[in-house]
Amino acid sequence: MSGFKWIEAALSDGRLMLEDLANLVPFAQRELGVSDDGKPGSATLSALSEALDPPSVKLPRSRSEVERYYGNPSWTKTGKGRFVDLDDAWVHKNIRSFRLHTGKRVRMHRLVGDMMVELFEKACDQSGYCPASVQTYVPRVIGGTSRLSYHAIGIAFDVNPRANPWSGRLPNGELSELRKNMEECEKAGKISFVKTMEDAGVTWGGRWSYKGKKGWGDDMHFQFAG
Ligand SMILES: [Zn+2]
Repeated sequence: MSGFKWIEAALSDGRLMLEDLANLVPFAQRELGVSDDGKPGSATLSALSEALDPPSVKLPRSRSEVERYYGNPSWTKTGKGRFVDLDDAWVHKNIRSFRLHTGKRVRMHRLVGDMMVELFEKACDQSGYCPASVQTYVPRVIGGTSRLSYHAIGIAFDVNPRANPWSGRLPNGELSELRKNMEECEKAGKISFVKTMEDAGVTWGGRWSYKGKKGWGDDMHFQFAG
């Protein structure tokens, strides 16, 4: 008999009191380290799913760990803005094409592609937000630096860039699509697109600073690293 069926039967024949069941929720919430308001909303459920199924992949947190883990291809300037020519052998060995559940093909590092496909589908399903535009591998340096962008290593992706700009707000002042999704999911007790990614250890650029405002950064951007 499944746990659910057992509870249903035990409640109906009086072996289990609804009150006892309700008392279990704040107890579990204290164990999980979330607010013990007795209501199993999105924060409780995601803390629970994390406790039951902790992220199995430890993603590299620093630049040097990234280089050790994913590689550090040599490159030369192309003369076209931030674009670079990457070492062909490295690209051939590491950058692969993966198919998202939407049918769209994306080029990612071989070590993160499958995770990306799985997480992207999960994030779309849970949040109800499924961005049509997904930009992944682009051989370029970070603006104003001579360091490779994580897009060049194939471990970053941008979603719906126009609707998720730097600063978290559109030119008309409205919140970005991802931030609206967070608000909607919070109200509906669902897990947002951003939260699904962050729970898996993926970094969201929206947490970064922009023009001195912390937490209003590069909304479109996610990376499989710290
Ligand atoms: Zn990006």
